[in-house]
Amino acid sequence: MAPPREHTLTSTQDKELEVAYRLDTLAIHAGQPNDPGTGAVAFPIYQTSTFGQEEPNVHKGFCYARTGNPTRKALEDNLAAIEGARFGLAYASGMAAINGVLATLRSGDHVVSTCDLYGGAWRIFTKLYSKLGIEFSFVDTTKPALVEQAIKKTTKLLWLETPSNPLLKITDIAACAKIAKKAGVTVVVDNTFATPVFQRPLELGADIVLHSTTKYINGHSDVLGGALVTSDEKLHEDLKFFQNAIGAVPGPQDCFLILRGLKTLSLRVERHCKSAERIARFLAGHKKVARVYFPGLEEHEGHAIQKKQATGFGAIVSFELKADVAESKRFAGSFKLWTLAESLGGAKSLLCHPPTMTHASVEPEVRRKVGIADGLIRLAVGLEDVEDLLEDLETALSAVRTTRRRAPVTC
Ligand SMILES: *Cc1c(COP(=O)(O)O)cnc(C)c1O
Repeated sequence: MAPPREHTLTSTQDKELEVAYRLDTLAIHAGQPNDPGTGAVAFPIYQTSTFGQEEPNVHKGFCYARTGNPTRKALEDNLAAIEGARFGLAYASGMAAINGVLATLRSGDHVVSTCDLYGGAWRIFTKLYSKLGIEFSFVDTTKPALVEQAIKKTTKLLWLETPSNPLLKITDIAACAKIAKKAGVTVVVDNTFATPVFQRPLELGADIVLHSTTKYINGHSDVLGGALVTSDEKLHEDLKFFQNAIGAVPGPQDCFLILRGLKTLSLRVERHCKSAERIARFLAGHKKVARVYFPGLEEHEGHAIQKKQATGFGAIVSFELKADVAESKRFAGSFKLWTLAESLGGAKSLLCHPPTMTHASVEPEVRRKVGIADGLIRLAVGLEDVEDLLEDLETALSAVRTTRRRAPVTC
């Protein structure tokens, strides 16, 4: 693994931070100076829906809380700073952020994306926006040549997710961004699984970075949120227009909680990743497990690209049990310490059965084509002692009644 890159970022949003600071410093300081009036070290929660004006449209930077709120602005500036972007926007959920990008499209526009995608993104693409005249092509973005083939005159967006969900496929962001740039296509990278702690899509040529802040960014499984950051001013203005027009913004208390979570982001991510690697290696040698998907394993298809474009492998580990759907569902519910739940990125370790949970909205034939097998289990490794996590996993695995599995077909 390459030594961790130094994060020398400049927040253009915050005068006090015009000196370049590194990610861990920015996560604590950017956008949130001590309160000048009282000295309060924690940024205040501005619980207000509107702001008094001196004359019509003359105000102190805030007029109505859907358009802007100081606590939200602190979060938006912080998110921009840690991704090395000029501008940040916060949303009520990751899906609201996804919708915020799609809202900039018009009927007839075309989007190229991957088939191994967050289930909710797949759902809004295929069930809502395709109905409104936006065309989607799903290709295996781990092969940049397929991305190049899929781009046509009407293509406006290239939508990447890497590591992908749930199969942890790795897309070469720089290679795809180069192809997109030539064609004038905007590149969106969903960086939820990686976080800016170990993957920096803007530095690799992406135009917009998307987050479900519900996950690692907040990190405590107690808030829903989303974010978009970009350094392109025109793009930012478009996105901001629709953020206000649609109105799916987070409240100030949620913004405060996400700001609190951000302060320990890299400490948490480091520990998540370390435990995940241990667990992936344990599973890779287990007789009840047919295969393990984790980019940190040398045999993973995307291992070399991940090492090149990121400084970590993440904390999501997927694996295929040698079992049928019924036995896999029983297994998923048989843990003491791990919680059977959708989501990831919190302190508590979670697991889920993608075919019947996160990816249930993906049609069975598409699931099969993508390689989401009936026995697929996704682990979101939390912050508990890894020995306890391993013991619980071993107990659950030892009770599995194995059956012959069908080999997965990949798209
Ligand atoms: C959870 C998630 C989303 C959606 O975010 P919500 O906050 O649940 O709306 C989008 N992308 C990825 C990769 C996710 O894990």
